[in-house]
Amino acid sequence: MSDNIHSSNTTVTAPPPKLRAAPRPALWSLIVAGAGLAGVCALYFIDPARHEIYPCMFHATTGLNCPGCGGLRATHQLLRGHPGAAWLLNPLAVLLVPVYVLLACHTVSGLFRGHGLRCATPRPAAIWSGVAAIVLFGILRNLPWF
Ligand SMILES: [Zn+2]
Repeated sequence: MSDNIHSSNTTVTAPPPKLRAAPRPALWSLIVAGAGLAGVCALYFIDPARHEIYPCMFHATTGLNCPGCGGLRATHQLLRGHPGAAWLLNPLAVLLVPVYVLLACHTVSGLFRGHGLRCATPRPAAIWSGVAAIVLFGILRNLPWF
């Protein structure tokens, strides 16, 4: 009999690589918040009406406006202090501003309380109501009298 371990049927495998510790939630929160702030700053300085940032594929293929069409231009107008122009571009985007503000406040307050990035969890009824409002807006804005 041999004591050679290479003659046995066992296979020697390399030790598992050491995994890096996942970044802390606070770091992710800062990254997401920074990306959001950078997006808002870009939208403030770059007018989507002059520079096509994100063409709408639904509008390009159907010729109809989706619920989000004009949303970036409306947000740009809101950031520039022109709510009337924003309303004409996309009323839904203007109506959702309080929701954006509440979500941002919720996220920022979670950061300061050390909870990291936490998403609000609306009730299913609120989600379905929002979906119904978006679909209804998408239908209504394509009617000739809207
Ligand atoms: Zn669209």
